[in-house]
Parts: sequence; structure tokens; C-alpha cells
Amino acid sequence: MANIGFIGLGRMGLSMTRNLVESGHDVWAFDVFPAAMDKAAGHGCHSCSTATEAATGREFVVTMLPNGPDVEDTLFGANGVAAAMDSATVFIDMSTIAPSMTDSLASRLSSLGIRMIDAPVGGTSEYAEKGELLILAGGTAEDVATAAPLFSAMGRETLHCGGNGTGTRTKIINNYMSTALNALTAETLAFAETAGLDLMLTARIMAGTAAGKGFLSGAYDRKVFSGDISPEFALGLASKDLNLALAYGADLDVPLGVGAAAAQLYSVSRSHGLAGNDWSAILHTMRQMSRPAKDES
Ligand code: NAD
Repeated sequence: MANIGFIGLGRMGLSMTRNLVESGHDVWAFDVFPAAMDKAAGHGCHSCSTATEAATGREFVVTMLPNGPDVEDTLFGANGVAAAMDSATVFIDMSTIAPSMTDSLASRLSSLGIRMIDAPVGGTSEYAEKGELLILAGGTAEDVATAAPLFSAMGRETLHCGGNGTGTRTKIINNYMSTALNALTAETLAFAETAGLDLMLTARIMAGTAAGKGFLSGAYDRKVFSGDISPEFALGLASKDLNLALAYGADLDVPLGVGAAAAQLYSVSRSHGLAGNDWSAILHTMRQMSRPAKDES
């Protein structure tokens, strides 16, 4: 069983340390908030008076802190824990932070001979409590395998996304989609309600169509990923439907800002001559718009 320093005992960290202890690991815990330390001690962690005490002599040091500057400060600020680690330690940052910060921390630690895994998590504090987090790990395969017993204590699945920084990037990009979809979902349900529809019935109907099921296991993997943009549902017709909805929303004075932004993308796709292709060809447009000019073929 592993010797673990754990820094950051908030909504996520507290449950994660409890699951580590219940799996038989020895956990030295630190948080700047004394009540959190008491709770961690209550489920069997060793309570530490400094982050350095939590990190010194451990096989693994885990951070679960609010944001990148908190992790940077914990590692490299006054009394930073980087000085308490060496080549025998694997540092695991499980916080959600900026990719550029992960890259910088991994590089600074590497120059000190300290290995790092970025391992942000999918799932809310409820999942942390049940030990069912999705762990998105970036680092060497060897280090991720070494940390597997910790990850399996805290999560239901660990996905090795690639080298350092890929865990963070996967998490941020996944959350880009989920947080933007959350706004589109709220916008759509408020629209339905204003139109006088039964909200629960409408939500149930949408859950069974592309509106609720999304595209990743539909048109995208069946067609566009393989370069096939031949029409099943023409982009021009999808664009027409979106514009009908926007016009109806305007009649009802419902703000439809997310949909209006999407309509611009359909307009660009049409202007690129894609109206007769599949509606998933919108990815084709986005790829052209996103790719640096030097990559244009
Ligand atoms: P939280 O605010 O509940 O907990 C953060 C803890 O860190 C607090 O207890 C705080 O006192 C402590 N802390 C702050 N600075 C510190 C320092 N320098 N040294 C020691 N302790 C310090 O946040 P959370 O919800 O547990 O989230 C932690 C991370 O996990 C965040 O990056 C968040 O984005 C991510 N995350 C959260 C959820 C969720 O559902 N809450 C889900 C997935 C990912």
C-alpha cells in the first residue's frame, strides 16, 4: 500500500482521501482550512500542519486544489513542496487547471528530476464520494501504471490520454462541450416553456433525438471522422430549421444567443458550398477555420 501526501481537502479531496484510506493507503493530508483537516483526520488521514510535512518522504504527492496558481504556489511558492520531493516521488495534480500551467509545472518538476502526472477528473463530488471518478491521466505509461492503485481507489476508470498535459487538455476540452451544452439546454428548455409546451414531455422527446443524444455516436463517428460528408440530412435543411427556430424565438421575445452563434457557423458552411452535404459537415468548416494557415493544403 502506498504512502501518499494529499493537499487540498475540499468537496472533492475529502472524499478522495477517504477512499484512499479505505483502500488501505497511508494518507498524510493538508489543507489551509482547519475544519477540512479535522474531517480528514476523522476518516483516518494523518493530519499535517504544513504542505511540506504532507509531502516529505512520500511515494506520491497529490494536489486537488481550486486552480493552477494554487498548485504552482503549493509546489514552488514559499516553503513549496517541490523541495520536499525527489526522483522517488510521483507528483499527481488532479485539479482542473490551464494546460499551459500543467506544461510549465511538468517542465519545472522534470528539471528537478521529479515525475508528474496530470490527472484531472470527470464526475462531481457525488462521484468522488462513491469512488467513481473518471480519471484522465497525462504522463508516461510507466508512471500512470505505478499510480494505478491510487486511481482505482478514487475512480471507476482511468484513461491514459498520452504524455504530460494531455489529461488536462482532455478535461478542459470535454468541459468546454459540457458547459456550452448546459447553456444550450437551458436556452432550449426556456424556449419550449415560453412556447407553451409541456416541459417534461418536451425534455423526454428531446432526450430521444439528436437534440439530447448528441452527435458523437451518430453522424460524426459514422461519417465525418472518415471524411464522408455525403448527405443523410442536408446541411442546408438543418440551417433552414435553425433559422425557423430563431425567427419563432424572436416572435416570442426569447433570447437564443447560443443558437444564434450556431446559425453563423451554418451560414459560413453554406457560403463554402456545403449546403448539399451532410449537416455534420459543419465540422469540415470548423476544421478549415481552426487550422493555422500554414497547414492549409
Ligand atoms: P473546493 O474549493 O471545495 O476545495 C479546494 C480545497 O483546497 C479547499 O478545501 C481549500 O481550503 C483548499 N486549498 C486552497 N488553497 C490551498 C493551499 N494553498 N494549500 C492547501 N489547501 C488549499 O474545490 P473542489 O470542488 O474540491 O475542486 C477541486 C478541484 O477539482 C478544482 O480544480 C475543480 O475545478 C475540480 N473539480 C471539481 C469537481 C466538483 O464537482 N466539485 C468536479 C471535477 C473537478
